[in-house]
Amino acid sequence: MPIYPIRVFPDPVLRTATTPITEFDSELSRLIDDMLEVMYEAPGVGLAGPQIGISKQIFVADIGDGPFAMINPEIVETSGKWKFEEGCLSVPGRWWEFSRPAFARARGLDPKGKPVEYAGDELMGRLLQHEIDHLNGLIILDRLPKRMRKEALSELRDVRPPGRS
Ligand code: ZN
Repeated sequence: MPIYPIRVFPDPVLRTATTPITEFDSELSRLIDDMLEVMYEAPGVGLAGPQIGISKQIFVADIGDGPFAMINPEIVETSGKWKFEEGCLSVPGRWWEFSRPAFARARGLDPKGKPVEYAGDELMGRLLQHEIDHLNGLIILDRLPKRMRKEALSELRDVRPPGRS
């Protein structure tokens, strides 16, 4: 398999617009297998295309009920509010406790190109919002409350090795 290193903040690919997937072929199945492997090895519960440098609308996930992949997904409904400690493989070793809607419903396509819907609250709701944010060029830092974000950004700037940006 190709080596897919996980891209970390501030890699510009995390901010790059993604394009829809139109071919539901063996190449896509292979990409999904590779993404799951990278995700499990990390380890993480979700991984979106941009996190391995692929600006396509795809993410894989497994919150304990088995792996799944969503293609060209969008959030169609959210409700409630849930405070949770959330992290991201692209901002390694950091977690922040903040609120997002508790429930989310997402529609998209499965790996064969058939319409599929995933919905849930708490961890599932959080995961759907987090992964679909990645496909829209948003990362966890963008969702933090203002003050928390300010602190996080200055902290991340401070740990960046000197001479590199
Ligand atoms: Zn993430």
